[in-house]
Amino acid sequence: MRTYELSKNGYDRSKRYLAGGVASSLRAAMKPVPLFAESAQGAVVRDVDGNAYIDYLLGYGPLILGHAYGPVNEKVYAAMQRGITYGLQHQGEIELAKLLTEVLPCADKVALSGSGTEAVMLALRLARAYTGRSKIIRFHGHYHGWSDSIYTSFPSADMPSASASATASGAVPPGTAGQSELSLRDVVLLPWNDQAALEAALAEHEGEIAAVISEPVMCNSGCIVPRPGYLEFMREATAKRGIVLILDEVITGFRLGLGGAHGRFGIKPDLVTVGKAMGGGFAVSGVAGRAELMALIDDGTVSHLGTLNGNCVATAAALATIGELAKDDGAAYDKMEKNASKLTAGLRTLLGKHGIRGVINEIGPVFHFIFTEQTVVEDFASFNLRDSAKYALFAERMLEAGVLVRPNGLWYVSAAHEDADIDATLEAADRVLGGLR
Ligand code: PMP
Repeated sequence: MRTYELSKNGYDRSKRYLAGGVASSLRAAMKPVPLFAESAQGAVVRDVDGNAYIDYLLGYGPLILGHAYGPVNEKVYAAMQRGITYGLQHQGEIELAKLLTEVLPCADKVALSGSGTEAVMLALRLARAYTGRSKIIRFHGHYHGWSDSIYTSFPSADMPSASASATASGAVPPGTAGQSELSLRDVVLLPWNDQAALEAALAEHEGEIAAVISEPVMCNSGCIVPRPGYLEFMREATAKRGIVLILDEVITGFRLGLGGAHGRFGIKPDLVTVGKAMGGGFAVSGVAGRAELMALIDDGTVSHLGTLNGNCVATAAALATIGELAKDDGAAYDKMEKNASKLTAGLRTLLGKHGIRGVINEIGPVFHFIFTEQTVVEDFASFNLRDSAKYALFAERMLEAGVLVRPNGLWYVSAAHEDADIDATLEAADRVLGGLR
């Protein structure tokens, strides 16, 4: 039996000094206690009680090469010897910006910042400045960071407080207390993967919409892929009306391939936001896109600020991470996808063996595992019918069995996971699912 005594003590102390006891609200959901990590290497995390886990949380996505990846760390250390941040120009920024224009199909030019939230804020600002319009279409169940202007409709087993549906007045509900309702006045909230709903909203708000923002795959709620033709329709319908299409690739960027989801699907958005995997765990993000839009920053029409934007650590980390991912024709992606397929196939077999009903939606090295009576989950409404309490129990028991998974069901596979890790994970899942009936 594992114990979590030191994590429990740590959490009690943390609650005394750290607001919420965690540094990001989602982390409080972990049961039996938000774990205190002691160290991590490759695909394995160790907690302060001496328990080791095969890690599929991966820092909520960025650790695409695994923890403490040597070749990236070395390049970051080397950069740090020459200074951490200058507030001046340096070569790393140009190299990273140039590399992004080479690997992201939609990128003529890029802007750098520190988090996905900031990248989305800039993309929305560019779209509003470019079109002279203010409304934004966004979709239920997607997440685009926690800024006031976009934070709504992000229900998750991790965060039961976030609200899901529009109010009776049709107004978009704030995602948290303290958020001005005015900040969401310009947001039109629609179901995703629903062409008719998008078509109707575009007609209703003709001439008013600055941008449509969408995750290209609804990773935050069910890892649901777009129905055939849906993203193509989104692209065509926005282009026809002069609306800026923003694909939020903070999860999918560098995870579904060097060119992200838009490269994989062959869709060219006007703007794309990237973060997480791009920096391999270091704080770096970016907006990339069409020259006409990015030119608004060139001529000073749109402000883009940030003390630490483009700092030496961030640029060295992103250059090194992308460099590793690009090696040997993207061998890291082949490895991740092979391991993820083996894992999802194995989990499906185990569901059958134990007579438990569940759905696993996957694309490349990311998948969402839920317990549900349905056989297909392809929109937010069907995703919401899942048994999240049962899944949270599964996640807790998986911890006991030495596997760290997010309590809401989203799994990431890294290039550090080996075949033996997948086998060990499936053995653990076999035992846990066996006890869950
Ligand atoms: N967009 C998407 C699609 C995300 O998944 C996230 C983070 N989960 C963000 C934006 C916000 O990124 P960050 O947490 O780095 O601010």
